[in-house]
This record gives sequence, structure tokens and C-alpha cells, in this order.
Amino acid sequence: MDYKFKLLKIHCAGCALALEQNLNQIESVQVEINFVTKILKLHIDSDEPEQILSKVKDTIHLFDHSIEILDYEDEEDIARREKQEREFNIFKLTLAFIVLILNYFVSITWLKVIIYLADYILVSYKVLISAGRNILNGKIFDENFLMSIASIGAFIIGEYVEAVAVMFLYGVGAILEDLAVQKSRRTISALLEIKQPYANLFDGENEIKVSLDKLSIGDLIRIKPGERVPLDSVIVEGTSYLDMSALTGESLEKIVTVGDKILSGSINGASVLLAKVEKLEADSTVSKIVDLVEKATEAKAKSEKTISKFSSIYTPVVIVLAFLIMIVPPSFSAFRNFSEYAYRALCFLVVSCPCALVISVPLTYFASIGSFARNGIVVKGATFVEELAKVDTVIFDKTGTITEGNFEITEIYAYGEHTKEEVLETIAYAESFSNHRIAKSVLEKYSDKTKKQINSAWVSDYSEIAGKGIKANIFMQSTIVGNAKFLKENGVHFFEVTKNGTVLYLAVEGEFIGYIVIEDTIKKDSANAVGKLKKLGIKDISICSGDEENAVKAIGKKLGIQNCYFGLLPEDKVLVVTDKVQSGQKVAFVGDGINDAPPLANSNVGISMGKLGTDIAVEASDVVIMTDEPSKVAYAIKKAKKTHRIVLQNIIGSIGIKALILILIGFGFSGMWLAVFADVGVNLLAVLNSLRAMLK
Ligand code: ADP
Ligand code: MG
Repeated sequence: MDYKFKLLKIHCAGCALALEQNLNQIESVQVEINFVTKILKLHIDSDEPEQILSKVKDTIHLFDHSIEILDYEDEEDIARREKQEREFNIFKLTLAFIVLILNYFVSITWLKVIIYLADYILVSYKVLISAGRNILNGKIFDENFLMSIASIGAFIIGEYVEAVAVMFLYGVGAILEDLAVQKSRRTISALLEIKQPYANLFDGENEIKVSLDKLSIGDLIRIKPGERVPLDSVIVEGTSYLDMSALTGESLEKIVTVGDKILSGSINGASVLLAKVEKLEADSTVSKIVDLVEKATEAKAKSEKTISKFSSIYTPVVIVLAFLIMIVPPSFSAFRNFSEYAYRALCFLVVSCPCALVISVPLTYFASIGSFARNGIVVKGATFVEELAKVDTVIFDKTGTITEGNFEITEIYAYGEHTKEEVLETIAYAESFSNHRIAKSVLEKYSDKTKKQINSAWVSDYSEIAGKGIKANIFMQSTIVGNAKFLKENGVHFFEVTKNGTVLYLAVEGEFIGYIVIEDTIKKDSANAVGKLKKLGIKDISICSGDEENAVKAIGKKLGIQNCYFGLLPEDKVLVVTDKVQSGQKVAFVGDGINDAPPLANSNVGISMGKLGTDIAVEASDVVIMTDEPSKVAYAIKKAKKTHRIVLQNIIGSIGIKALILILIGFGFSGMWLAVFADVGVNLLAVLNSLRAMLK
């Protein structure tokens, strides 16, 4: 059984991590907590999940009594409560601050101390309670505990203001951090709100508003201006323009009319459209995107895991150091100033929480994935952002990836007494069941030219051999259409020609009948893409194609790509990829999903692009580019590198600053004020730096 909950009032990233480890120790339970989204995902592998579920809930409450566990569905309630909590905290801190200032003017010493104590309790009772609970649970190395010890210690040695200040700043830091995290969470949520929640079902006379699960394929729906297309459908009446920006990240408007397919999530810009539903809710484009993005923000990056490990070492080490500072120097007579060293030790404790790291690293990836999605690129998880940043080799599939995949017929040749009409017609019939771009183009050109329809009753025993061509029974004769290799394999005698473009040979009953030459155009954006990749320092850019040598090389030459691999079957493309991967290159394979799912799956990063809708490509790839532009590959790599830099800055920056502060404190050059500022400040800087990953 799988469950999803939202945790409220979980106060620090470190606690979330500790709680996760705690829960995972329960038998037959698998837990993942995302501190950024505060979502707890629970998998229970047992016959009595209810029992274990209540055990999980008990454990959470034992861990920290104030944590609230809410069902994930109730988003509005969650948002309201989060707001309430934040407002209460702000109020509390403001009050504490005013009291702290006013107390400065109180001159009766004992009263002053009592007010400080009251103020201290006001700002820190929650932290103190959590710390107490955690000690009862035998878990002492957490942030609550450290802050409590440090501030209580400061109180005991008479540093009242500092004691209050530690907790006060800690609270302010938590609120600011929360706001920043919320900001990035909102951006992602907005992104996920591209679903139209209802549809206007039209029964020929009346129109009724229904929820999407009530619709079935073939239903007629009306889409009004300003509404989003609810499900993938095809227009049966009306002309309008669509704003696809939610899907592609570009506000390009596309004119659509009767017969055009429209994707869910795009906004109808002008006039009412009547459309026929083609896909159910679960299969529609928008649901898939929302699903992908949601999953992506949940998967943890490798560096996140490393950070978790690091923090579980860092804290105990600092605590041991603090302890040594407290007892070692005073035991030598020259340094017999116990309270001075106790103070330094307490300052150490303030700096000992690695919170900046624990929160900023996942937050950076979270923000980055959100920003990717806003720009029309779905990266399926933080690991792939990491992988993208390392890419030094980009292999492009040719057809449909760097070319338009929209072929023109440039020549028709008929052998002997056969006619050109016969050649074209037979090839069109052969292609009529194929989804390949070649087939789509040939069929389009055939119906444009002849105005004839294909009668599929004349096609039987159809089979398509990936990367080669088609075999079928057409007009009761066994027919082969495909490249030269394919005809040779089938023992056809024919003459091979070299043309500017791809040659499709035709044989009927083993006899060569003729060929057609089809030519594809290179996408306008391809040259741009190659240029940008070179500028990024990608050292190996290759084309990988099932097409013939001259067709592939001609394109390579035009674009300035030296490595051209041609005549490849899908399994050969895998070899090209694995060869490079094994020699240590970090390979991104870019394909359109037609005949290239295997290399997509075998590269370090599989990038699928092009017209939304080829499901296998979306599944086999790690990154999905919603538009037709290969230059987005360069953009994605660049952005991933930026994300990686931010993560590094945060790691090096926060460890560096903390180390420096620790040294200063150790030698007595710094006090608790600076320690708190450093702790809260570093935390905040790291969080703000993370948010840069949201920018373009
Ligand atoms: P690419 O690697 O360029 O995307 P494919 O691997 O899909 O191309 O196809 C390689 C070659 O196989 C094509 O250039 C064509 O010669 C032949 N071929 C593949 N599918 C078909 C088809 N449906 N009809 C005719 N030829 C095909
Ligand atoms: Mg292809």
C-alpha cells in the first residue's frame, strides 16, 4: 500500500532527515520525506497496513509532538494552516523583540532577569519541547537540542541577551527560509495548474459542465475562448488560435482549424471550438506532464544523499570539538577560566547544524526542475540534472530530430514498362499502416497529388522492419519497400543509385519495379544548436542515422558535424552509444522516439524531443523537450551546469564560512552573536542562492 501525507510544523531540514531515518527502521515500511514540499511518501509492505500506518503516525508524534499529519488531497486546508502558523510565529517574534528592547530600560536587576527569562521562553518553548522529546527518544544530535543547550548555557553563564537572541534569530531565519521555499513551491504548483478541471460536454443541443472523468473517447466538447483544452482532442468545428506556452514554454500562437489535433493544457485564444475527445484524462498530454513534473521533484539527487551522510558526521564532530574545548584548556593551569571556555563551547554548538546544506541542495534541484518545466523541458529528476551538467558528448538522431521529418518527393523512377503512378501508388499503399515520418510524408504527398484515398482492404500481411522498410501483401502481390540493404537481404536484383536524399526502393513479387527519392529539410534551428553546443565546449557532436551514407554526410557537412554514423539499425545505434559511454564519455542521445527508444535508454541522458505524443520516447527518455528545437539541448546543458554551480557554491560556501567561524570562536575572537548570525545568515544565503536556479 502507498500513502501520501503532508507534514505541517516540521521545523528544520535536519529534523526531516532524522525523522525519515527513524521511520525507515519500522519493519516493512519505506518512507521518503521531501523537506521542500513537506510531502511524506509511505510504502507499506504488509497484510495489515492499517496497523503499521498507525505505528508510523505514533512514531512521528513521538519524534515531535507538534508535527501535524494531513492527507495530501486537502491542499486548501494545508495552505490555510501553513499561513496561520507563519502568522503566529511572526507575531510571537515581533512581541519578543519589543520586550527585548523595552527590557533594556528596566533597571531592577532581578526584574530584568525575569523578563529575559519570560522572553526567552516565549521565543523558544517549541524548540525546547521538541528537544526534550527527542532526548526521551534517545536522539540528541539534532538542531533543537543544540540550540537549546547553547541558549540555556548562555543563560546560566549570565549572557541573557545572547540567549534570547540565539533563539530569536533562529526563529527569524526559519520564517525567511520558509518563505523562500514557499516561493519556489508556488512556482511549481502554478506550473501544475495547467489542467482544466472541467469540460463543456455538448450533446448536439445542450451543453453541460462535467468533470473530466465523465468523458469518453468520441464525446463532443466545446472549448471557449480563454479556457484550456481539457483533453487531447481533434477539432470538428471552428477556427481559433492556441497558446501552447504552458506546454512548450514559448508563447508562440498556433492557428488551428477543423481536423487539427489539439493538446490538453493549451489555451484557446480566440473563438469557440467544437472538438471530439481523442484521449481519456489519464492519457492526455497535460496529465502526463503534471505527473512527470510531480515525480521529478520527488526523486533525490546523488549529491543530496551525500549531503545527508555528511551531515550525520558533521554534527557529532563539532559537538565533540565543543566538548574538548570546554574541558581540555581549563585543565591546564594557565587557562583556568572555565566559564570562558564553556562559552566558546556553546558558541560551537550554535554553528554545528549543517542545515544550510540539508535544505539548499534539494531546494536548488527543486527550483531548477521547476524552471526547466516552465521553459518547456521536463527533466525527470534531480539525478538527470546532475547528469546533464556532466555531458560532453551529444549524439543526434537524424530524421525528425535535426531534420524536419517532413519529406518532399523529388523524383519518381519507374523501371521497364511500369509507370510512375504505379510506383507511387504501391509505395503509398505499403506505407499506409506505418507511423514513420517517411510514411506520413509519402502518404500526404500521394493524396495531395492524386486526390485518391487508400483502400486498406488491399493491404494484408503487413510488417515493418525498424530501420529497413516494409513488407506487405498489396493488391494480392508480395511487396517490399525500403532501403537498398533491405532489398538486398530479400534477394532482389536491382541497381543502386546515389541521390541527394533518401531512396525508397520498391520490389513486387521479388522483381524491382522502381524507386522514389525523398528529401528532408534541415530544421532552421539545427545550425544554431550545433553552434551553441560547440560554444558550451561539447567536444563530441555526432549524427546517428539509419539513412544512407551520402544523405547523412551531406547533412553533417552542412551543420559542421564531423562524426556521422549511417546505415544503422536501432540496435546499432545502441552500440554507438554504449561504445562512447564505455570509453568514459558522458553521452546525451537526442531522438524523436521513432526507432530510437533503445539508444535513448542506454545513454547517460536520453533526451526526447519533437511533437508531443510519442509515448515510448517519453518513457524511454530522461529529459523531454516539448518543442521541436534541437537548440534546447544546449540550453538544458547550460542550465544544468548553472544548477550544479549553485549547488557547489552552497556546499563550499556554507562549509567554508562555518569552518572559519569555528576557528575564530575556538581562538576566542568571536562570540555568540556572530555564531548565530553566521548560522542563520549562511542558511539564508544558501537558500536565496538556491532560488537563482529558478531564473532563466
Ligand atoms: P533515422 O535513424 O534517420 O531516424 P530510421 O532508423 O527510422 O531513420 O530509418 C532508417 C532507414 O530505414 C530510413 O532512412 C529508410 O531508408 C528505412 N526505413 C525505415 N522505416 C521505413 C518505412 N516505413 N518505409 C520505408 N523505409 C523505411
Ligand atoms: Mg528517427
